Amino acid sequence: MGSPVVGCSCRVCRSRNPKDTRSRASLLVKKRNLSILIDTSTEFRLQAIREGITHLDAVFYTHSHADHLHGLDDIRPLTKDHPMPVYAGETTMSDIKKRFDYIFSTKPGHKGGGRPKIELLPMPSEGVTIQGLSIVPVPVFHGDMRIYGYRLGDLAYITDCSRIPEESYNVLKGVNKLIIGALRKRPHPTHFSIDEAIAEAKKTGAEYTWLTHLCHDHSHDELLEMLPNKIEPAYDGLCISV
Ligand SMILES: [Zn+2]
Ligand SMILES: [Zn+2]
Ligand SMILES: [Zn+2]
Repeated sequence: MGSPVVGCSCRVCRSRNPKDTRSRASLLVKKRNLSILIDTSTEFRLQAIREGITHLDAVFYTHSHADHLHGLDDIRPLTKDHPMPVYAGETTMSDIKKRFDYIFSTKPGHKGGGRPKIELLPMPSEGVTIQGLSIVPVPVFHGDMRIYGYRLGDLAYITDCSRIPEESYNVLKGVNKLIIGALRKRPHPTHFSIDEAIAEAKKTGAEYTWLTHLCHDHSHDELLEMLPNKIEPAYDGLCISV
């Protein structure tokens, strides 16, 4: 839901620490001139302005939940010159076509501006390589939904997840830096709790871990105190070098 949560006046939502203002989760990956984005969060427009994004080479989706997808329309200014390659799993592709039907409409009157140009592509299970960077999907479970995390070199990004199947640990082998979703201390049916995320992080063997997709139960400073060494809460604008 991001924090502050609409209508909430809890201590975290009222916090003046900028790190307690959490927009919805996404990841920008930069390598020389290459820029790729994982998920267009609800706040994509504001995140793109904050980070000075002037071009994107491709967008990858983890899944189609509102908090990860609904910023899609705002890539429009970045698709003026060429259609944006957008990679997604099968279910996410069909959800994108349903929710953004106007983007794909061929009806007369729908020609011209007013919508982003998108080239929707199925995510190959072996991954894709763009300008020397390989992006490999990591199938994980988000409740009953099978969705994607992604591996990029020795970094893995797994947001909404409640179970990592054993075979996906082969894809994660050798990962050094892990960004993993942890909603809160209390258990949740479709997201790892903080303790579950810590256990998964240890299982991957990653040296450094950041928790993302955190809700308003705990402030950034409380999380820093409760987390073990080399596991930290992520925050808006966090930059990780790999
Ligand atoms: Zn709150
Ligand atoms: Zn989700
Ligand atoms: Zn989510």
